[in-house]
Amino acid sequence: MSADTAGAVLVFNAGSSSLKYQLVQPDTGVVIADGIAERIGDAGSSMTHEQNGETVTESVPLPDHLTAVRRAEQFFADNGTDLVHAGLAAVGHRVVHGGRSFYEPTLVDDWVISEIKRISTLAPLHNPANLVGIEAARTLLPDVPSVAVFDTAFFHGLPPAAATYAIDRAVAAEHAIRRYGFHGTSHEYVSGRVAEFLGKDPAGLDQIVLHLGNGASASAISGGQPVDTSMGMTPLEGLVMGTRSGDIDPGLVLHLNRVAHLSVDEIDTLLNQRSGLRGLCGENDFRSIAALVDAGDEDARRAYDVYIHRLRHYLGAYTFGLAKLDAITFTAGVGENSARVRADALEGLQRFGIVLDPDRNAAAGRSARRISADDSAVEVLVVPTNEELAIARQSAALVADSAGGQP
Ligand code: AMP
Repeated sequence: MSADTAGAVLVFNAGSSSLKYQLVQPDTGVVIADGIAERIGDAGSSMTHEQNGETVTESVPLPDHLTAVRRAEQFFADNGTDLVHAGLAAVGHRVVHGGRSFYEPTLVDDWVISEIKRISTLAPLHNPANLVGIEAARTLLPDVPSVAVFDTAFFHGLPPAAATYAIDRAVAAEHAIRRYGFHGTSHEYVSGRVAEFLGKDPAGLDQIVLHLGNGASASAISGGQPVDTSMGMTPLEGLVMGTRSGDIDPGLVLHLNRVAHLSVDEIDTLLNQRSGLRGLCGENDFRSIAALVDAGDEDARRAYDVYIHRLRHYLGAYTFGLAKLDAITFTAGVGENSARVRADALEGLQRFGIVLDPDRNAAAGRSARRISADDSAVEVLVVPTNEELAIARQSAALVADSAGGQP
């Protein structure tokens, strides 16, 4: 067993055709290695592995996730890490939907697997892929405890008024229909980091977190507990995203079916993969959209404006919903990197005590930073998210607890 890897956690984030992994020390956050397998099950599959300062990318046939996990194991071995004997504390898995069953990190056993399978109807694109990652890891590392960390968990305690759809209550109860919320690991981690950065007790903080990546969600958090969030029963609700529509009139779905004669699956694909920024302008990467806006592209301008409009809509709602507002925090790919989005989201909000400092906002950085002006009543921050580290910490803590605190 290597001293470097003893107590480390291998974190898996399995998507339908991808597998991201990271080997990380939960206490220090030191990343020992990470990698990604892409286009699993496709002709053009490839893998990238980074360890010891070296990045290796190769085209390799990956018919399934187990093959990708085995190839990852080989990459680790090539770099001197024998995963089976590395003294890992846990394998931590991101699982998107915990339904009504799971709202805490959970040690995986056969029952947990069958229950995640059962609730896959709530997240048909995500949960089955997460499960494949879990099963592959259990096959490869049968002696290392696997822990499932659910994207919905943090929002389990949403107040009923924020969690409830105004539909027939019997139908909602029968079909587990409620607002679950997603990106919970990120919202919890980032809001905790905000308290650390400000040197304040989280119990006294009222804050808004804007997780703006390819998927995007906003949350309002009071005293460390979520009071509202923009994603709902599925990760389709809320903000405009890279390829997802976010909020729409549900009547639109009926119209697409009855009048446009699209099937349920076609509507699913339309709303999840061909909508959002991509639907509006053909691009879903913010860097390309910004370049198109600068070049005078009208569709990109419209897409950008719709994106900002929706973001401000949620900012306004959450500002009203909180008793006070101490901090607004931007995170994830767009939130951490796009000064333009941050500036436009908060443009003209001086009357609410929200004042950006243009130079601080424009300065690039990789760590948590303040971008508000000194006289801003509300702190505006950029805080990089780190879902892998959060999953690693929660997994290691659960395994230590279940072992009665013994290392
Ligand atoms: P995430 O889902 O958090 O990995 O975020 C991915 C998105 O972040 C990409 O689709 C890009 O649009 C966006 N992004 C990444 N880097 C930048 C950047 N430097 N400027 C603007 N947007 C960026």
